[in-house]
Amino acid sequence: MVRITLVQGDITAEHADAIVNAANSSLLGGGGVDGAIHRRGGPEILDACRALRASRYGKGLATGLAVATTAGRLPAEWVIHTVGPVWSRDEDRSAQLASCYRESLRVAAELGARTVAFPAISTGIFGWPVDDGARIAVETVRASAAAPVEEVRFVLFDEKAYAVFEAALA
Ligand code: ADP
Repeated sequence: MVRITLVQGDITAEHADAIVNAANSSLLGGGGVDGAIHRRGGPEILDACRALRASRYGKGLATGLAVATTAGRLPAEWVIHTVGPVWSRDEDRSAQLASCYRESLRVAAELGARTVAFPAISTGIFGWPVDDGARIAVETVRASAAAPVEEVRFVLFDEKAYAVFEAALA
């Protein structure tokens, strides 16, 4: 069974084998956690993302998929970029959000990662309600994390998100 842990703070400071980026489909950077990862990780990550755009992802990365790059200067080995769905009142996109966690874990396992840190995907600029996002995150990780991944760490930026994830875990 995978161990799930919670941390309040900035995911760019995490010492984990892989950290997950809540990217957008362009893979070319954005705001929120994406901006922080590129700022702190340096240009090597963007170079790797550009190379992915030029090779496998000419049209961008589809929602719910995940792909890995170097972590540049970050204290992690890899960044796994995944594209969360934008929250919609009219359409249930939870399967896409679950897919982000599942696909990121699949990529992490392929890389041989043992520790993986996730932000609360889609709960910032993409507007997903944090309590529902936390429920999906915890359920999906419990159902899909497998060896060699031993620890999944949710890194929550603020106190409120931390409390919500704590409740979802309980
Ligand atoms: P999305 O577009 O998927 O909503 P955001 O980056 O806007 O992505 O937000 C996702 C979550 O990440 C939000 O809960 C936000 O508070 C959080 N966040 C923003 N910056 C960081 C950071 N440096 N480390 C961890 N979490 C962060």
